[in-house]
Amino acid sequence: MPGERVLICGAGIAGSITAYWLSEYGFRVVVIERSKREQKAGQGLEIEEPALSVVRAMGVLATLQERKTGEMGFTLVNEKGHSWGTLGAGGISLTGALEIMRGDLTEVLCNRADESPNVGFRFETTIRGVRQSNDKCMVDTQKRGDADITTEEFDLVIGADGVNSLTRQMVLGRDEELGIRKPIGAFVAYFSITSEEQDWPYSQLCHYPGRKILWIRPVGKDSKTSSVYLIHLNDDVPALHQANVTGDRQKQKEAFAELYKGLGWQTERVIDQMMNSENFYSDQLAQIKLPNWSKNRVGFVGDSAWAPTPFTGEGNQLAIIGAWVLAQELSRNRNQMGFEMYEKRFRGYVENAQAIPGWGYAPYILCPETAWGILSLQTVFWLIAGLTRFFLWTGMTKMMPERGGSLEKHPLFDLQMDVANDKKGI
Ligand SMILES: Cc1cc2nc3c(=O)[nH]c(=O)nc-3n(C[C@H](O)[C@H](O)[C@H](O)COP(=O)(O)OP(=O)(O)OC[C@H]3O[C@@H](n4cnc5c(N)ncnc54)[C@H](O)[C@@H]3O)c2cc1C
Repeated sequence: MPGERVLICGAGIAGSITAYWLSEYGFRVVVIERSKREQKAGQGLEIEEPALSVVRAMGVLATLQERKTGEMGFTLVNEKGHSWGTLGAGGISLTGALEIMRGDLTEVLCNRADESPNVGFRFETTIRGVRQSNDKCMVDTQKRGDADITTEEFDLVIGADGVNSLTRQMVLGRDEELGIRKPIGAFVAYFSITSEEQDWPYSQLCHYPGRKILWIRPVGKDSKTSSVYLIHLNDDVPALHQANVTGDRQKQKEAFAELYKGLGWQTERVIDQMMNSENFYSDQLAQIKLPNWSKNRVGFVGDSAWAPTPFTGEGNQLAIIGAWVLAQELSRNRNQMGFEMYEKRFRGYVENAQAIPGWGYAPYILCPETAWGILSLQTVFWLIAGLTRFFLWTGMTKMMPERGGSLEKHPLFDLQMDVANDKKGI
């Protein structure tokens, strides 16, 4: 008997992984994605255990390792470009052991899912409507440039369309009315600039008064581009606010240019190139907190269900692990009960991960308001970097625990055994 038909909206990280695992469990999957297939948007993301176990089980870990950026750690600099020290990758460093560009990650995951005859990707296609009956979903989709809307029947629908999920708003209601979007008072912008020799192999991060950060990260040893992250931890710029509400890219760029103009170090180079950047992405950081991750036959995964913001460092991790848990629970209960079991199993894990470190104060400590605050932070960093160098020299770092923890060892998961047992059951 042919498997149940599932529509997944969004071929990002969560969407592609869910598609892969559902196809392994015998579902027939259609994935729609509004971007072009070749569009490789976004900057660096990190994968660590237990999410590494999921991509390892998909057979793509070696490919991801080949594509990692190779960033070897990060250096803290001041507004004159003087270094306060360097931390290598892993441990408490901002650089993870496996840093990869979002575009490379989604390409690898998407290609892996696409190898299955059970999965079909439709790019430049968006969702236009969802209607549910007791046992089916009718879904309207539209391909870019087509006047017509296509309507098809599916057994289940999964919204994996990110923090601003249209699927979520169609099925549950508008975010503003539900109050499920919790801005954390910060704006970010990510884009690429032409690389220069000093960008490799360490990323460089600089603080400016008024809670601003400029972080330049290498993309690869021979890459022609480097990544830029601008972080403004303040809700005090009406122009930026307005530009984000309308999604006007040019206005977003102008607002960031105004904020960083004349602050020193690499701001001039970055602003000049930002104004012409084609892969500029900016958003107001917000957490998504849904009372339920599904409604009847439509479920949500990844940022569309629980966006935690980059301040937790968990967005990518949760998308990867959550996609696998969802597919596994749907393989055991191939209807809306699968959505309920997935939420029951995974909600506590997500809620823990959504907690911003330091009782929510860590971002403010790590991104100070005043020049004195920045100097204190730089001094503490100088001490930590010095101590770490000392521990490395004495070999004591080998005694420190690794970041994350293996999925196989986590009480929630028994990945290898589960995968083996579930495959036998198909
Ligand atoms: C363009 C882009 C750039 C990003 N850059 C960074 C970055 O540099 N650093 C970082 O930490 N995080 C970045 N993120 C967020 C990061 O990818 C996620 O926080 C995390 O990996 C969770 O993944 P996800 O699959 O749940 O959501 P996402 O990665 O956001 O994926 C959602 C997918 O759904 C698609 N989509 C959205 N709406 C529709 C629709 N109506 N119809 C069809 N498809 C739709 C999107 O194009 C996207 O491919 C970026 C996200 C996007 C969309």
